[in-house]
Amino acid sequence: MSPFSLEGKVAVVTGANTGLGQGVAEALAKAGADVVAVGRTPPADTEAAVKAAGRRFHAISADLGSIEPVGRIVQETVDTLGGLDILVNNAGIIRRADAIEFTEADWDAVMDVNLKTAFFLSQAAAKHMLKNGGGKIINIASMLSFQGGIRVPSYTASKSGIAGLTKLLANEWAAKGVNVNAIAPGYFETNNTEALRKDESRNRDILARIPAGRWGDPSDLGGAAVFLSSRAADYVHGTILPVDGGWLAR
Ligand code: NAP
Repeated sequence: MSPFSLEGKVAVVTGANTGLGQGVAEALAKAGADVVAVGRTPPADTEAAVKAAGRRFHAISADLGSIEPVGRIVQETVDTLGGLDILVNNAGIIRRADAIEFTEADWDAVMDVNLKTAFFLSQAAAKHMLKNGGGKIINIASMLSFQGGIRVPSYTASKSGIAGLTKLLANEWAAKGVNVNAIAPGYFETNNTEALRKDESRNRDILARIPAGRWGDPSDLGGAAVFLSSRAADYVHGTILPVDGGWLAR
């Protein structure tokens, strides 16, 4: 079997109804994984794509703004598809405002989804993985895991935090068969970046800095997600893998 094959694996992807989560879910299914999509919005297109790849699909309705559903997500995944081998913490939000007037509500909302729930869902998944032969956890980081950004204080804090957490969890679980890594997407065409793409001067500035000369498409993230989910990455721990069209090379 190819070292990149995910046949027989069960992957949980949060926020898989759209954008990068959808791209990742499709790529994992094409590599052989059954997929559980977790989120607030029914993932109809993702379900169709996973089934078209010949894989099993299950949707779990959950609001990841609180950690209340994390135990249920793991239990329902195991009960329905018979295991949990891969977790992709993809669900995330962003709030834009000048730091000088940034509100507590915009701080808490972003930190809760992007960082707090990602940690506690990883903890719940790892409790299963550590007892059942290991697994792979992939966090979706950002260029703002490396850079400061502008007008997105809670987002930068959450994505810098997720990079640190990825390394901490790798340190604790690497010897026990659970790989924890992150993918840091550059600038991708999704709902998350709609405001940037609509702003002519920001759009022009961003494009001018991307060596690849274009925004990323959600399908561009699939290869990295398949790699980090696969046997080929068994000795890869605690890395933050940029998929950014060369942005960080500039
Ligand atoms: P997106 O299209 O806005 O998708 C975000 C996903 O997260 C959606 O499925 C959304 O579900 C889900 N989500 C948000 N809040 C949730 C909650 N409380 N409970 C459950 N699900 C929730 O944005 P995206 O660009 O694909 O973002 C995916 C991830 O990539 C995020 O972590 C983001 O920070 C990261 N990222 C994106 C870029 C980029 O350029 N696009 C760059 C770096 C990192 P709903 O549809 O129900 O809201």
